[in-house]
Amino acid sequence: MFSDKEIKEIHELLKTNKKIVILAHHNPDGDAIGSSLGLHNFLLNCGIESNIIVPNDFPKFLKWMPNAKSIIIAEYKKQLAYQLIKNAEIIFCLDFNDANRIDHLQTHLEDSKAIKILIDHHQQPQAFNYIYSDTSEPATCQMVYKFIDKLNLEFNIDKNVAQCLYSGILTDTGSFRFRNTTSETHKIIANLIEKGAEPDLISSNILDSNSPERIKLLGVLLEKMIIIPENKTTILYLNREELTKNGYQKGDTEGFVNYGLSIMGIRFSALILDDLQNDHRRLSFRSKGDFDVNTFMRQNFQGGGHFNASGGKSYDSIEVIIEKIKKLIQNEKELQ
Ligand code: 5GP
Ligand code: MN
Repeated sequence: MFSDKEIKEIHELLKTNKKIVILAHHNPDGDAIGSSLGLHNFLLNCGIESNIIVPNDFPKFLKWMPNAKSIIIAEYKKQLAYQLIKNAEIIFCLDFNDANRIDHLQTHLEDSKAIKILIDHHQQPQAFNYIYSDTSEPATCQMVYKFIDKLNLEFNIDKNVAQCLYSGILTDTGSFRFRNTTSETHKIIANLIEKGAEPDLISSNILDSNSPERIKLLGVLLEKMIIIPENKTTILYLNREELTKNGYQKGDTEGFVNYGLSIMGIRFSALILDDLQNDHRRLSFRSKGDFDVNTFMRQNFQGGGHFNASGGKSYDSIEVIIEKIKKLIQNEKELQ
């Protein structure tokens, strides 16, 4: 958490600076959108304007959140996004800690003279003016809640803020199932419900909003899942043709990697997807227990994330990646 001195300084900065930008990572997820909107709506309640900018579009199941329409999607409004970042006095960086996670906005952030405030729970943060980085935190949304609490402005958390922060905690804890879910998480969730968060509505909006195409795509994926019981591993993959033929929409593959982990005895699940916009493969790794997929990703592919959940990319073909994973897991003592 920020020190008392830092909190005082940030509080002062917020009161005196008018140009505030909130940035979240490429392919924004529930925690990125929830924390950005949570902070934006909280600042509004304090009488402070801000602009949220994300590098590219985000899934439909997050668009119901209060003020989601005001988010500037930089891939559609490049000049506006670049100008706002350039002129910003304060930039909050939420749910990422490395400028390479914001894609085409990277150089704009690096060149901006703004005071940069980081709130994030990933490993190995870059330099920022103010840093609240804690890998033990389950979600950036939980950290935004604690930041607001430390500012002594908890009374400015209304229903809008609560719905957003609840959402990111829900998604980043896998519906309160992952081991990053603590008693503190449940206490914060209880407070958010008291402030108006609606667990049934949020769960229904986020978890029960499957399109028929997504469920069909899941069928294709599961049909050809590779299970390697001797290494407690599943490998899931979809190529460009399978994605397009089945009407893939942004966000449709979100959470697919978890199906591998739901099999009895499996400790590691890998999902490989052709990236439809680029000439590389997107990787999602998830683990249970002591197998560290952050290190596994960093050492063998381009990416990182958390101990039990990481993401990255590779320029190899799906087939080559599968063979590479099969070989590598034989040397992982947690998977024997
Ligand atoms: P996902 O599998 O959902 O894309 O990502 C899982 C986690 O890894 C997320 O917390 C995400 O922020 C992080 N992550 C995803 N892609 C990358 C990447 O390319 N580089 C790094 N460092 N982290 C990533
Ligand atoms: Mn997160």
